[in-house]
Amino acid sequence: MTAFLSPLKGAMFYLVRRIAHLVGSPALLASAKDNLSDVLSSGMALGVLGSRFVRTFSAPLAAFCVAAWIFWSAAQVLWESVRQLIGGAPPEEVSEAIVEAVCSVPGVLDVHQVIVEYVGPQVRADIHIDLDGRLSLEEVHRISDQVRERVERLPEVDRAFVHAEPVDWRLYRERESIVQSAGQPCAVRQKGK
Ligand SMILES: [Zn+2]
Repeated sequence: MTAFLSPLKGAMFYLVRRIAHLVGSPALLASAKDNLSDVLSSGMALGVLGSRFVRTFSAPLAAFCVAAWIFWSAAQVLWESVRQLIGGAPPEEVSEAIVEAVCSVPGVLDVHQVIVEYVGPQVRADIHIDLDGRLSLEEVHRISDQVRERVERLPEVDRAFVHAEPVDWRLYRERESIVQSAGQPCAVRQKGK
């Protein structure tokens, strides 16, 4: 019976894990790992059966592997939740997606000081954009709003805060801390496409 259920549980693991990544939920991810633990437990049951015929140490070995796996997945789930609670930095892809979204707005010449932090399961982004200093306040406001909207459209983002600066303002100061992937001006990124 357990051997029969294993493939089903395995399929459930992949399905639930996919959903968990889509909605960014550590609780669902934990549930997916739970299914995988079941698969491994079933594997251990087979190991126990096998041990009667094959070798005496296959059962303890299988038990050890399952225990190690359960501890490992528990630690991962715990770490992911703690990271989100304490406002840790998200994976590089999230920052990269934010920079891409910012650069996709016409009029944005560059982006810097992109600070992305977890606030619950989603992130909050603080973004500085570089605009032509001769733009009117109305245009600056329109571009800033568009940047905020595009960034907030990303599923990982809860809220975005946009700070506009004239592009040459930055040349007179030390370059502020920049997310590594945001090192290229938007023009360079757009040309690359
Ligand atoms: Zn700045």
